[in-house]
Amino acid sequence: MTTADVTVRGAGIFGLSVAWACLRRGARVKVIDPNGVAAGASGGIVGALAPHTPDNWYDKKEFQRDSLLMAESYWADVAQVSGHDPGYGRVGRLQPIMNERGLKLAHDRVEGAKTHWLGQAEWQVVKASDLGHWAPYSPMGLIARDTLSARIHPRRATHALAAAIQEKGGVFSTEGEPEGVEVWATGLAGLEQLTHELGKEIGVGTKGQAALLAYNNPTAPQIYASDVYIVPHNDGTVAVGSTNEKTYDRPTETDEKLDELLERVFGVLPQLKTAKILSRWAGVRPRAIGRRPLLGAHPTREKTYIANGGFKIGFGVAPKMGDAMADLILDGQNTIPTDFRVESIL
Ligand SMILES: Cc1cc2nc3c(=O)[nH]c(=O)nc-3n(C[C@H](O)[C@H](O)[C@H](O)COP(=O)(O)OP(=O)(O)OC[C@H]3O[C@@H](n4cnc5c(N)ncnc54)[C@H](O)[C@@H]3O)c2cc1C
Repeated sequence: MTTADVTVRGAGIFGLSVAWACLRRGARVKVIDPNGVAAGASGGIVGALAPHTPDNWYDKKEFQRDSLLMAESYWADVAQVSGHDPGYGRVGRLQPIMNERGLKLAHDRVEGAKTHWLGQAEWQVVKASDLGHWAPYSPMGLIARDTLSARIHPRRATHALAAAIQEKGGVFSTEGEPEGVEVWATGLAGLEQLTHELGKEIGVGTKGQAALLAYNNPTAPQIYASDVYIVPHNDGTVAVGSTNEKTYDRPTETDEKLDELLERVFGVLPQLKTAKILSRWAGVRPRAIGRRPLLGAHPTREKTYIANGGFKIGFGVAPKMGDAMADLILDGQNTIPTDFRVESIL
């Protein structure tokens, strides 16, 4: 007798989000990962859940918006079932407006949000002087603030989701035979495997480095400025990241590129300069060609599915991605945006 309807390979945020959605719909789920929970990119520390801008609208933005709007109740449910705090908070985001062009774009986005964010979030232009000491420097004294952005603690959230899955009867192991349908959510290893199997490039990794600082400002908005994210968590820390390295020798080691990033962070918010650096972290993002999630039926294997390509927004799109995959796997309904489908890159 089988004990699982769905076997998920990969215990990162993608695999676990698919497992959770299937479990919530009554399927029996097994998760296999030889390296354990959050061993890959999902073991990170940054956790910006940041929307694409609400102008120049297209379906990738819509998918991400829906996912970000789902996130609050999704993570509240995970916290309630698991008893663990994923560190979710809808704190918003600040971005300094640097010049007249930036101001025009910001006004376009104010209008775009009115049209596309369903009255559930806003893009605003506010005075830096109204934001106190947490305002990033803007030569115009103006900041774009959106109220859709949130933050999460990636590593804690992934472990909380794993605990919730176990609590609801999902089974975890580091090895074993698949049962039922299979979902390959194996991140970079999966993209490399597909590339090898199909004889064409399906995706690559881009390395990112980040740091965690001791600084307590739990309800402050995240900041995106000078190409860095500054993300206050609810545990007395602020995460900063990330580098974007297309070539790398040591995927999980930090180096002087992180020191350069920290200098940029201190330029944006000088008060962080005296904060103790608690940890430095590096990982590799799974980036499918086209920089979009890669979801759907496996191109060559029966009863097998792929959930990959989270790249820089894996945590942001995870709730909706899990649902779309469960629609396909359990109900045969393909609700995945056309551009995200595996067949779109074949
Ligand atoms: C520095 C950095 C900062 C980031 N910041 C953000 C951010 O602010 N916001 C955001 O949304 N995203 C961010 N991301 C991206 C996010 O972390 C990824 O999109 C996401 O973690 C990808 O999840 P995944 O489950 O696809 O892959 P992974 O987390 O890498 O999981 C893949 C899993 O598959 C397992 N595996 C490999 N081979 C096998 C096999 N044969 N069988 C079974 N299991 C296998 C691995 O052990 C691993 O656990 C960041 C990433 C990095 C590196």
